[in-house]
Amino acid sequence: MPSPAIENLVAQLTRLPSIGQRTARRLAFHLLQVPKEEAIALAEAIVDVKERVHFCAECGNLTEEELCSICLDQRRDRHLLCVVEQPVDVVSLERTHEFRGLYHVLGGALSPLDGVEPRDLRIADLLRRIDAGGVEEVVIATNPNMTGEATASYIADQLRGRARVTRLASGLPVGGDLEYADEVTLGRALEGRREM
Ligand SMILES: [Zn+2]
Repeated sequence: MPSPAIENLVAQLTRLPSIGQRTARRLAFHLLQVPKEEAIALAEAIVDVKERVHFCAECGNLTEEELCSICLDQRRDRHLLCVVEQPVDVVSLERTHEFRGLYHVLGGALSPLDGVEPRDLRIADLLRRIDAGGVEEVVIATNPNMTGEATASYIADQLRGRARVTRLASGLPVGGDLEYADEVTLGRALEGRREM
């Protein structure tokens, strides 16, 4: 690399998901070529989200306020709660326009091998929400892979006797993430959810 600054930028970029060395180099050289304002705008956008965006106090979704826009929306069905792993999954499910309830974002999936235990996820908060009353059905929409399934079973056990628990129908690509499922498939999986 012609300069330590470029080397550092490439190193930072390779830390992003699905960015390898070659893509990182291409992005770094691209940023060197664009007008200074354009590159600074990107840097400022990153600083901005890190400073302004935090987790919704109720559901764990991302928001710039105390509560997210979904929790605040009085037209949403408060008897229905959909449990997902990450805020990006809320975006995927919202795109289907099939779900009119509220969400609960766990912040990950159980994975003892990686040291992710129940206390590392927003599971206690979920139980508190259910115990507060009003929720009739909990739709578990964790990813259809090993950690997602383990998380779904764990939560279903915890919720037994507290609420009706359903799981997204199969038909989603096994081993994949909700994030990569198309809207139609995801909408159908939601519609065809089954009892756990
Ligand atoms: Zn919220």
